[in-house]
Amino acid sequence: MFGKYKIDPREIFHVTNLSFCIVNYKPVLPGHVLVVPLRIVKNFEDLKPEEVTDLFCTAQLVCKALRVAFNGQSFTLSIQDGPQAGQTVEHVHLHILPRLEGDRFSGEKNDEIYTEINKAENNFKPRSMEEMEKEAELLKRQIQIQLGNLNNNNNVNEENSNEKENQKNEITENN
Ligand code: AMP
Repeated sequence: MFGKYKIDPREIFHVTNLSFCIVNYKPVLPGHVLVVPLRIVKNFEDLKPEEVTDLFCTAQLVCKALRVAFNGQSFTLSIQDGPQAGQTVEHVHLHILPRLEGDRFSGEKNDEIYTEINKAENNFKPRSMEEMEKEAELLKRQIQIQLGNLNNNNNVNEENSNEKENQKNEITENN
């Protein structure tokens, strides 16, 4: 569930223990996605520390995927936390939008992106499920690749720290 809305599984591109990620039915820019805690909580301040950690670690992974899948060079991350801040769905969600040189909010128009995120709900027609599913599949694949890369890096880091530990032991043994 996303607030009171039932989410079609075809929109979901990643799920963790505490969060899920969906493509947006009215993206303000290509690749505009949402990271959402699994538990329905209206306000950011009411999330548990482990939910905040998971939400933002998931956001990092999503940025890595968007960097490749949508050529994201920079990212806009935004939470509209409460109705006065523009929240329309009463369930915390982090908007992530890949940003490119020359996109329609580039340069002096940068801050207009927040107006557009705010207005988007009323502004344009939802996309077709077919289009959303295609995008979710693309992101699903890219998330798997990024998770693979992270695992490889962790293995390399582990090997490096084992090597350092061995070197340390050798030094202490030699003394
Ligand atoms: P906010 O105005 O910050 O509450 O943002 C709500 C966001 O959720 C907007 O970007 C909407 O386009 C998006 N949204 C609402 N319902 C759905 C849905 N069923 N599937 C995907 N995105 C949705």
